Amino acid sequence: MGSDKATIPRRTERKDTAHRRKISRRGFVARAAATASLASLLETGRRAEANERRRAPVSPRESIKISKLETFVLRNSWVFVKISTNAGIVGWGEMLKDNSKMCAAGAKELESYLVGKDPRRVVHHWQAIYRHSFYRGGPVLTAVLSGIDQALWDIKGKALGVPVYELLGGPTRDRIRIYGSSTDVKRGKAKAFKTQVRADGRIPNRYVEGQGFVQRAVQDFAALRDSHGPDVDIGIDFHGAVQPQTALLLIKALEPYQPFFYEEPVQCQNVDVMAEIARKTHIPIATGERIFTKWGFREILEKKAASILQPDVCYAGGITELRLIAGMAEAYYVPMAPHNPQGPCSLAASCQIAASIPNFLIQERGTDSHQDLLKVPFKAENGFLPLPTEPGLGIEIDEDKLMAQVGEPRDYPRTYDRDDGSVVDW
Ligand SMILES: [Mg+2]
Repeated sequence: MGSDKATIPRRTERKDTAHRRKISRRGFVARAAATASLASLLETGRRAEANERRRAPVSPRESIKISKLETFVLRNSWVFVKISTNAGIVGWGEMLKDNSKMCAAGAKELESYLVGKDPRRVVHHWQAIYRHSFYRGGPVLTAVLSGIDQALWDIKGKALGVPVYELLGGPTRDRIRIYGSSTDVKRGKAKAFKTQVRADGRIPNRYVEGQGFVQRAVQDFAALRDSHGPDVDIGIDFHGAVQPQTALLLIKALEPYQPFFYEEPVQCQNVDVMAEIARKTHIPIATGERIFTKWGFREILEKKAASILQPDVCYAGGITELRLIAGMAEAYYVPMAPHNPQGPCSLAASCQIAASIPNFLIQERGTDSHQDLLKVPFKAENGFLPLPTEPGLGIEIDEDKLMAQVGEPRDYPRTYDRDDGSVVDW
């Protein structure tokens, strides 16, 4: 009987069975949905993985070796280094534009050291190149080192699929403030610019300039201040061409117009002289385009010769060294405004620094010429560049355009005093 009861379900049991069937149908639908959603998740995961593989073509555990180093000197004196690897990744860097043929030759000499080595040991190679040279320092060696350092960071970022600043601790800001020329301000690309101190069609490079010259130089700046108003920051570059006796006359006369900074008010070879000038004005002194490595900037900071540092990523020692200089400067409450009159690698590498340091003031944008060598140009708007998003330095050099500009570099400017023909600074 018990079995009969079991085979003939009562009304409530029938209800339960129907309910179970319903649940079972719901379960099927739920399982199907779950399967579909799992499939979708797996598909998304596969796509993300594929995307990741594309952006990170070399796992940190995989071997990667430098296979070749090439250099390119352009007619405008810009000089580039390209480092290739057996993984197909290439890195680009840029060096000192003066002495460009010397820089190219110097970089080529290091090819035998670099080929066969892992490009991702960037700091190790920096140390080896700098410290294995018995005679250390000097603009050519540090320029060669800077170009190679940029190229190695470019490779490392591309291998990992991230911009270099992600490897330096991640972004410290959302966009990068830039300065350019007066024309850049008029075009809406920048809200700050730099000008030179000059009058009568020349810069003040005589030992002691007269009252008339100083007055005309100040009027020149006052006119710029009038036309742009007080909310545009205007730096003045003395270009290290002004002698200390005249520098102080100009600095005091220009103070009422509050320049953004005085750049290289005198040559930096005697830091004590610059420090003395810095003590006599409340306008910030900026310097650094002719100072190399952390050792060069140590003296500037210790002697308080400048309150804004302008190292150049193409000859102060590259990304590795600028990051360290920024750290030293931070301890002195000194911000960074990296120098850049050069090409696309210079601006791209500087942007990686700007994106990753806390004490960043502003970046020199350089001329529009750097855009001619890129597949995707930089886009400055309202005084800022966006943070780079592509891996490595974040740029792609157009090699056809670059090769079209390769040639004999231009000569140095040669400047002489108008009246007596003696050599003067420029
Ligand atoms: Mg300058």
